[in-house]
Amino acid sequence: MSTLLEMSGVSVSFDGFKAINNLSFRIGEPELRAIIGPNGAGKTTFMDIITGKTRPDEGRVLWGEKSVSLLKMSESQIARAGVGRKFQKPTVFEAQTVRENLAMALKNKRGPFDVLFYNKTRAGAERIDAIAEEIGLSDQLGRISGELSHGQKQWLEIGMLLAQDPRLLLVDEPAAGMTPAEREHTTDLLRRAATKHAVVVVEHDMEFVRRLDCKVTVLCEGSVLAEGSLDHVTANQDVIDVYLGR
Ligand code: ADP
Repeated sequence: MSTLLEMSGVSVSFDGFKAINNLSFRIGEPELRAIIGPNGAGKTTFMDIITGKTRPDEGRVLWGEKSVSLLKMSESQIARAGVGRKFQKPTVFEAQTVRENLAMALKNKRGPFDVLFYNKTRAGAERIDAIAEEIGLSDQLGRISGELSHGQKQWLEIGMLLAQDPRLLLVDEPAAGMTPAEREHTTDLLRRAATKHAVVVVEHDMEFVRRLDCKVTVLCEGSVLAEGSLDHVTANQDVIDVYLGR
């Protein structure tokens, strides 16, 4: 597993308050990683740094086999390099069908000129079918997206990110508001995606994290407090103290 992203010594302050404090982090490709930590630990800021939304005051963020600095790239360049982010709330085009949503995601990747053709070609159609299968919505392709369940919308949005051939997917609390069956499907989907891509999942729900069955990074006060299997980190006294608010 080669390193895809490596952060070292990263710090960010907001009005003198260190939201991220000398943070180091590495993820391989492919890999599945869960990020946990109490409110205010810096999880959102951590993702904002990767996408280029927030610029650190110090430190390095290196990307890919050539170790290029993400800090020298704009948000859109970072997205084009292969960083996809899924926010907690699904943002699909509700009036369009599932197929149209996936086609639009392919369109963004392909650029404005060839899209009209690409989405009508066999290759385009096959790609949409393959993604629909990957996210478990093959039988919903003709359905108006606004009619999908909350879970199905979340999967569609993950499919739209997959349509853009990401190398790193950042996923914020994917299981929130889902039924037990939907959570199980989401676990399978993310685990499958992580056989090809680097996938970082920020999640509060420990039962969901357990099912992901992956390495866990615990953030606290902007730094890594512990890292390893869920059993390993939850046996750590510092982690126990933080979660029990001591
Ligand atoms: P988490 O996602 O783990 O809850 P955040 O990254 O949102 O944590 O926030 C980390 C800390 O930084 C919090 O104390 C938060 O109040 C503070 N913070 C985040 N963004 C800003 C901002 N734009 N201005 C001021 N403080 C901020």
